Amino acid sequence: MLSGKSALVTGSTSGIGLGIARSLAREGANIVFNGFGDAGQIDKLHTDLGREFGVQTAYHNADMSKPSEIEAMMRFATDKFGGVDVLVNNAGIQHVANIEDFPAEKWDAIIAINLTSAFHTTRLALPAMKQKNWGRIINLASVHGLVGSAQKSAYVAAKHGLVGFTKVTALETAGTGVTCNAICPGWVLTPLVQKQVDDRAARDGIGNEEAKKALLGEKQPSGEFVTPEELGALAVFLCSAAGNQVRGVAWNMDGGWAAQ
Ligand code: NAD
Repeated sequence: MLSGKSALVTGSTSGIGLGIARSLAREGANIVFNGFGDAGQIDKLHTDLGREFGVQTAYHNADMSKPSEIEAMMRFATDKFGGVDVLVNNAGIQHVANIEDFPAEKWDAIIAINLTSAFHTTRLALPAMKQKNWGRIINLASVHGLVGSAQKSAYVAAKHGLVGFTKVTALETAGTGVTCNAICPGWVLTPLVQKQVDDRAARDGIGNEEAKKALLGEKQPSGEFVTPEELGALAVFLCSAAGNQVRGVAWNMDGGWAAQ
């Protein structure tokens, strides 16, 4: 479905971004990876994935908190694959603390990486998408783009901001073949969430499995984690022709979290 097209997935060396990159590669898209990690492992990760799905892959190490590096990554994607047809704004970080204890530099980093980076990638991707009259922008927001949770002020603010930015992008592209939507997952068991599981286990003196159940039990009625593969399938749908008129949506996949 996506052969001949290229996708850039920020933060795709791990977790949800990697799951979405795999799903788009399975559909034939060439992939530009981004994110942090061991250089050798990342090199193997993207070359193996390219071989598995018979697509071309590349990697750029831009730090999503740095606009000049984002600009370099977007130029790199254009040089490699002639542009970005599918842009997935996925890179994100978390910090958990009460507002009065929240380090100001953590606030700034979360807003920069989880929200502002999407502005920069989008403004740089849109001209070529509009010219081709086809494009897909998928913003990895969160159920925290729809509802709040205590101790996650910066994250909730950034994700609500990202849902708002998604709506404006969708309106500004409504008369074109470019669509923009947000995906809003509940708990997904990735390194970002495992840290919160570990913190809960340490705080309450419980084991890993019990801590996972406690986290899910508080918020996610299904009692089960969402998976990167399920999120990848939703991203593929948004890229399909059936998604042509899905615009400005904040689509939660959250085990019932936001239904409460
Ligand atoms: P993860 O920690 O597994 O992956 C995060 C990715 O972002 C990694 O590849 C990491 O290297 C990259 N990254 C972090 N800081 C970066 C920076 N400054 N520049 C470039 N890349 C950077 O986390 P995840 O759970 O897969 O999260 C992916 C996205 O999904 C995030 O935006 C997160 O907020 C969102 N999300 C996650 C969950 C969940 O339960 N895991 C739920 C809702 C939304």
